[in-house]
Amino acid sequence: MDIHEYQAKEILAGFGVPIPRGGLAYSPEQAGYRARELGGDAWVVKAQIHSGGRGEAGGVKLCRSEEEVRDYAATLFGKQLVTKQTGPAGKGVYRVWVEAASDIAQELYLGFVLDRKSERIMIVASAAGGMEIEDLAHDDPDSLRRMVIDPAVGLAEFQARELAFSLGLSGGQAAQMVTMLRACYRAYRDLDAVMVEINPLVLTHGGELVALDAKMSFDTNALFRRAHVAELRDRSQEDARESTAADNGLAYVGLDGDIGCIINGAGLAMATMDMIKLSGGEPANFLDIGGGASPERVVQAFRTVLADRNVAVVLVNIFAGINRCDWVAEGVVQAYRCEGLTVPVVVRLAGTNVEEGRRIIDQSGLPLITADTLADAAAKAVAARSRQAA
Ligand code: GDP
Ligand code: MN
Repeated sequence: MDIHEYQAKEILAGFGVPIPRGGLAYSPEQAGYRARELGGDAWVVKAQIHSGGRGEAGGVKLCRSEEEVRDYAATLFGKQLVTKQTGPAGKGVYRVWVEAASDIAQELYLGFVLDRKSERIMIVASAAGGMEIEDLAHDDPDSLRRMVIDPAVGLAEFQARELAFSLGLSGGQAAQMVTMLRACYRAYRDLDAVMVEINPLVLTHGGELVALDAKMSFDTNALFRRAHVAELRDRSQEDARESTAADNGLAYVGLDGDIGCIINGAGLAMATMDMIKLSGGEPANFLDIGGGASPERVVQAFRTVLADRNVAVVLVNIFAGINRCDWVAEGVVQAYRCEGLTVPVVVRLAGTNVEEGRRIIDQSGLPLITADTLADAAAKAVAARSRQAA
């Protein structure tokens, strides 16, 4: 789960990371008041969306007066901000963060990620910050420093110092960096984060290290024990199809193909996608309807899959253990009758109550295409798709 920059900053500040003074606004007027409260003569106004790349996309601006803060905020509110990371639909701006501008001498990069190879938290840092890590890895890979943390020991002081020195910091700044690194590590570990990124981490002309931007992402499987993190969820920033699907107990991930998939079990869903590809087709989505799926949940699965306009065929593949083929079949028939289906549907059922399930499909009188095996189902789906295209 992602959170907003201002939320990440507040969390990190609580662990001892220095951040610029700032305030949140829900309207242009409030943004103006925030600037006045903060004082000074320069502020940075930042669109709060779950995405990086806001600077380049016009979502971050340095303003020199209270009026400018208000007017710029007015252009942001309600806008769908499109960045390199959001996709063409962009993300809606409903909150704006106003902070006292910093005078930047140098921009550094600092990230904490889960390294799956070593199964440990890894620090990635660079003395050349500001740009996105992907670009940095491409344009200036030699500047990247990586350090893996032993979970039994935690981030040792000497390790943090070594990293600080390798970034060219010394004296008081190296000491600040050590404090910063240890604070980020504790925040990551104590809150079940999967990512902490400070980009840029700046060195001001006054010689202070400050987190100018902050991003945090959390392990959704651990949210049950992190109530304070869970409540930071902002549904306005999520893919509506994926979050509605999740609310209905469906694990859905949209893909680029045109064969819609309704499957039970994550493993079978992956295998089915492989079989579709092997037969020369492209899956439109991953969808796991889960165990004990009622006919209603199957209908909901059809709605979710068909909301994707690219879907030309639907493939239902059920190997029922906890599930019941007759319930799934009833769901398929209901979806066909009530959702005004216009695309071919291939159904393969196996397992619990399969005879009853097949009987419901056969007696429905609907033009459903039935299949016996997974390979057969994938081949029939691809064939039906080719007929549609012809
Ligand atoms: P992102 O593009 O979504 O990652 O947003 P950032 O928060 O990283 O802001 C983008 C860029 O705006 C930064 O790399 C900085 O160069 C610039 N910026 C942000 N805050 C300030 C500030 O307080 N002062 C100055 N001069 N520039 C800033
Ligand atoms: Mn940034």
